[in-house]
Amino acid sequence: MINKLRKLSIWQIGTIITLVVVVLFLIFNTKYTNDHFNSLSTRIADLSTQLDNIGIKLSSTTADLSKNITQTHDSLNDALNQQKQNSAVIAQQLGNYQQQVSTVSSTVSTLQKLSNTDQQLLEKYSKVFFLNEYYAPAKLTPIPGTYEYSETKQLMLQNDVWTHLNKLIDDAKKENTTLYVYSAYRSFNEQSALKKEYKIIYGAGTANSFSADQGYSEHQLGTTIDLITPGLGGVIDGFDTTPAYQWMLNNAYRYGFILSYPKNNTFYVYEPWHWRFVGIKLATYLHNQGKNFYDLDQRTIDTYLVNFFDP
Ligand SMILES: [Zn+2]
Repeated sequence: MINKLRKLSIWQIGTIITLVVVVLFLIFNTKYTNDHFNSLSTRIADLSTQLDNIGIKLSSTTADLSKNITQTHDSLNDALNQQKQNSAVIAQQLGNYQQQVSTVSSTVSTLQKLSNTDQQLLEKYSKVFFLNEYYAPAKLTPIPGTYEYSETKQLMLQNDVWTHLNKLIDDAKKENTTLYVYSAYRSFNEQSALKKEYKIIYGAGTANSFSADQGYSEHQLGTTIDLITPGLGGVIDGFDTTPAYQWMLNNAYRYGFILSYPKNNTFYVYEPWHWRFVGIKLATYLHNQGKNFYDLDQRTIDTYLVNFFDP
């Protein structure tokens, strides 16, 4: 019985102990779970607060960033606009410089051309102005014998002037007009000798009227010639009665030649055979305007010096 009791009580005790353990476990577990839950809630609340803070910080940072980006964008735009303006200013300045450089180089080339052109070539020589006795042309070239009226003396002209005269005589020939060079370059000494000879033959007064030093000094330039045509008996007087003279009046300007002393000029006696090279541009201007070289003022004439040898 005791054993039965003991057995029962062992069952009971076991059951009780089991119940107690279960109850204790439940109690403990509930408490633990509550504590754990509480702890988790606290942590979640903390995290939530932190998240809020991060959110606030993030939004304020984003606003700052956005503001910075806008400012940077504006600054870039300003810089770009400034750059565009600067570029336009620089481009304009460059354009101006280029224009100045071009003007300067054109002026330099004109000056170079002028510095290489003999200033005397377009001077007026008259009773008042005459060529220096020491003047001699830069480059003289002999005129081929077939172009000379008399081959007893070798005639000379400035290189480039002969080129123009050569063409004139050849073209005239094609139009059945024969022209010969009767006289060309004469040095100062040759001129003096000629003048003395005339004075002896004609007397000083008469010689001065047709052979003054200053008048003939155009021959000293090496740009001036006396022309003759067949049928005059070897004398240049009467050249203006020939068709050759008419041909010269109509065409000489196209080769750069002008009649220095036309009829009724106040600078020297009428010399229809005496032609001076002044360049095609000036000769053409004079022809078209119906003007004479010696009637122009020297300043106007000088503006044509740069074009003197232009073809
Ligand atoms: Zn002459």
